[in-house]
Amino acid sequence: MTNDWDAVIIGGGAAGLSAAQMLGRSRRRVLVIDAGRPRNRFAAHMHGVLGHDGVDPAELLARGRDEAHRYDVAFASGTVVAVTEVDGRLRVTRSDGLVDTARALVIATGVRDDLPDIPGLREQWGRSVLHCPYCHGWEVAGQRLGVLATSIASIHQIELVRQLSDHVTAFTARAGTLDEAALERLSARGIAIAPSPVREVAHREDGLVIATEDQSEVVVDALFTGGEPELGLDFAEQLRLVRGDQPGGPIVTDLRGATSHPRVFAAGNATMPFANVPVAMGAGSMAGAGANAMLAAEDFDLAVAERTARRNAEWEARYAAQDRFWSGRVNSSVAAIVAELPPGTALDIGSGEGGDVVWLAEHGWEATGVDVSATAVRRAAEFAASRGVAATFVEGDGPATVEDRFDLVLASFLHSWEPDFPRTRMLRDAADRVAPGGLLLIVSHAAPPPWVREVPAHAPVMRAPEEDLALLRLDPKTWAPQIVEVRRRAATAPDGSAAHLDDGILLLRRIG
Ligand SMILES: Cc1cc2nc3c(=O)[nH]c(=O)nc-3n(C[C@H](O)[C@H](O)[C@H](O)COP(=O)(O)OP(=O)(O)OC[C@H]3O[C@@H](n4cnc5c(N)ncnc54)[C@H](O)[C@@H]3O)c2cc1C
Repeated sequence: MTNDWDAVIIGGGAAGLSAAQMLGRSRRRVLVIDAGRPRNRFAAHMHGVLGHDGVDPAELLARGRDEAHRYDVAFASGTVVAVTEVDGRLRVTRSDGLVDTARALVIATGVRDDLPDIPGLREQWGRSVLHCPYCHGWEVAGQRLGVLATSIASIHQIELVRQLSDHVTAFTARAGTLDEAALERLSARGIAIAPSPVREVAHREDGLVIATEDQSEVVVDALFTGGEPELGLDFAEQLRLVRGDQPGGPIVTDLRGATSHPRVFAAGNATMPFANVPVAMGAGSMAGAGANAMLAAEDFDLAVAERTARRNAEWEARYAAQDRFWSGRVNSSVAAIVAELPPGTALDIGSGEGGDVVWLAEHGWEATGVDVSATAVRRAAEFAASRGVAATFVEGDGPATVEDRFDLVLASFLHSWEPDFPRTRMLRDAADRVAPGGLLLIVSHAAPPPWVREVPAHAPVMRAPEEDLALLRLDPKTWAPQIVEVRRRAATAPDGSAAHLDDGILLLRRIG
């Protein structure tokens, strides 16, 4: 059975739980999958975490889970072994074979510290073998301290530890041979240097005994060292996330926790191995908010797509319901203007049953029509064939369906009864399809027919061409208006009497 979520969070440490809170409070359906091995589980107390100083790290996470529960966040114990993308959803597989799918993923899996392989060291990790002067330095300040260097970068750790005590011994073998300048800096601050490799670390009543290969022993109260952070991100391999530093480095994100994959966010030590608990919490919070913002934007995109599909289906139903919808004759205003133009390529937006396109083709234009209705497109193609002209008809939602640029783009009577019909957006899309030097011709109902006494509240939008021009907000450096006027043409009212219709004409040339 596959459960579907708005977001799955992998990792229930400080970062993952903070992300869970943000997503839960945003009423998202959220699952946290956690293997239950937070990095600081070896320590009994936590420091440097505002408002939680000295708290047991396990207690903080328990509180965090309780808080997230209040916002209906679900939790599962387990280890994620694979994430793949299937049909725009992320498929998250656990080691026991359970599968979840989600629209968004937050990776908050932390790191595992790979400590130097020295007997006795790991046993004391988080007790008297420490990694972070900020987290545990105060508690051992003024005491006998050692620093087991693991690389040349450990010089920085030695400098920080020296701030805590006057009694510091640096075990430097793993940092390589230190140059004179480095040695001078260390000795100037009174740091004892033990260059022989450390052989063993043992807890004794009088302190931690650091035995070196030259058979010496140094007794300290605490030993600082740094493990190699192992990210354990094999499960995310197929997402091809951009990683930093070197291959296999931390996941690269922006400030909102966004990764190189649009549905994947990341936070905490998985992105910043040096981050302490508050930094992991802050980043998790941002990643949760980032994931929610992505989902919110997608919800709107989906709503627009659904509405468009509904509108398109309605048009299709309208065409399918009757044999012929339009007259098949070109609009007289269109014909009058286009007849003056040298033929070239032309695109007709909302081409219906092809009346205008066939007329254009008969007058030497290489004409394409686009319409949302499959029935209309089929009829238009049949109409062109019956007239013996070559014309192209494309089924699609508006100008953006077509990639080419055209010498003439025609939007003729683009009106709809739908209240939120995106007429201006479609006209702007139409403008995008005009080739440099080409023309955009918008012909529309500038006013309701005179025989309509009372215009219904939801009647299609009818505007003067000046208004359309203003709404289009086209760059005046790129677009030069050629015709902006209302033309009156003769029409027959439904009762058979002579009447007129007002066509709004907007002809614009793309000059850039
Ligand atoms: C000994 C020690 C003491 C520390 N003390 C302090 C301190 O006092 N103050 C401080 O601010 N910082 C301290 N830190 C640093 C602190 O541990 C980290 O900043 C913090 O844990 C980072 O949080 P995180 O959520 O990124 O990762 P973590 O807390 O490590 O949480 C990651 C979670 O993801 C889970 N996970 C990993 N892979 C998977 C997977 N594939 N599927 C499911 N779950 C997975 C893990 O099991 C874990 O539960 C200490 C670190 C150490 C090593």
